[in-house]
Amino acid sequence: MAFTISCRELGHEGCNWHAVSNTEDRLVDFVAVHSRDHHGIRDFTQEMIATVKNRLGNVPETTAGEEEPVMKEYRCPKCSWRYLAQTDDLIVDAVALHARDAHEIKEFSREMGQKVKSHLTEWTPVTKTACGCHCSS
Ligand SMILES: [Zn+2]
Ligand SMILES: [Zn+2]
Repeated sequence: MAFTISCRELGHEGCNWHAVSNTEDRLVDFVAVHSRDHHGIRDFTQEMIATVKNRLGNVPETTAGEEEPVMKEYRCPKCSWRYLAQTDDLIVDAVALHARDAHEIKEFSREMGQKVKSHLTEWTPVTKTACGCHCSS
């Protein structure tokens, strides 16, 4: 089984966005990124995570894999800040804002944008592997 959720179910009438993922945690990440980029929700709270988990639906796994968007990640070299997005440009915009707010870099040059793009890594979610042995410690 795979998990699915539409933004409308989370209260955003008129938004056609939906996501499908094979893992619940990854789906929550997709929703968090979408909420931030499209609805300006900066803090994705524990309650919101709980709401997503309550409302998600199940779809057969076979149709899910193709729909998973590839996400990219940027980690700030100066602090623990990181940013996930589906396009390089979204990340560069966010890094420019972060650089200004957190590191007082007022002029975010084109070269800095290029540098950010060259430091992006493809984001892979932490996958939980079940313990195969029957240890009873
Ligand atoms: Zn939405
Ligand atoms: Zn930083």
